[in-house]
Amino acid sequence: MSVQSPAILIEENFPRDGLQNESILFSVSERAALIQQLVACGFRRIQIGSFVSPARVPQMAGTEDVFRLLEPRRDVVYSALVLNRAGLERAAGCGMSHVAVFVSASETHSQRNSGCSVDEGLAAVRDLIRQAKGRGFMVQAGVMNAFGCHFEGTVSTEKVLNMVGAFALEGADEISLADTPGLANPAQVESMVLAVQSLTSLPLTLHLHDTCGLGIANAYAAWKLGVRRFDASCGGLGGCPFIPGASGNIPTEDLAWLFESMGVDVGLDLVQVVEMVKYLETRLGKRLPGRLAHTCLHRAGH
Ligand code: ZN
Repeated sequence: MSVQSPAILIEENFPRDGLQNESILFSVSERAALIQQLVACGFRRIQIGSFVSPARVPQMAGTEDVFRLLEPRRDVVYSALVLNRAGLERAAGCGMSHVAVFVSASETHSQRNSGCSVDEGLAAVRDLIRQAKGRGFMVQAGVMNAFGCHFEGTVSTEKVLNMVGAFALEGADEISLADTPGLANPAQVESMVLAVQSLTSLPLTLHLHDTCGLGIANAYAAWKLGVRRFDASCGGLGGCPFIPGASGNIPTEDLAWLFESMGVDVGLDLVQVVEMVKYLETRLGKRLPGRLAHTCLHRAGH
């Protein structure tokens, strides 16, 4: 692991995007302990949970208590997903300084996921960005289904750019493009990344899912265009309860291997990351889709 900032910033998402889809509930203290373990693996950005109603998503109950148990570190960003003003209040109340907000570019997904239209979702997120910036938060604003929708097919570039432009106008610090259903291909990623880069110079994160097995190829296409931030989930843990057949984020260890095998530093201890994947497999009683943990390559001196 290098002392300098790594060339690639991987934000570990399994404490949120992964665990929210599991039927096994992890306690607040267990979630905090796993996040501390992720810090020891070298992660410098971790999405620790979301501020949603515990009645709706019991897996994410007590995210503020998880945060309070974490060791504050200047070199680690703990982020959380915020869906509304009540969530922002909770994030502020526990002393968090970084939040992520999202709007879906698909009408059907927006209705199922958030119970509102795309326009209503965008208006709400604009308001949320304003509120969050007014309270001193760093804000990542993202577009879900930015590369297409399971229900509606293609999503127009213009629609995505309109949202990204609105985020920038409201003062968002970072942009995220999410392939929520995992349907993107590298050519699509290329054209969308180029379009967003021509609109704004804000840092861009890709949040890729691996439903069709193209997640790593999509990350590579984005990296070739200068994208250096990616969300990923240990083992590929995750899915989307509102999209049938959707799989988890790209597996962290496979993404790390992509870059490390090309000599690009990701700042992670891969052996420890693989141990985390194996722990999760044992704890959840199932094999996770990531590849590297099931090979011996990660022990080959990388
Ligand atoms: Zn996701």
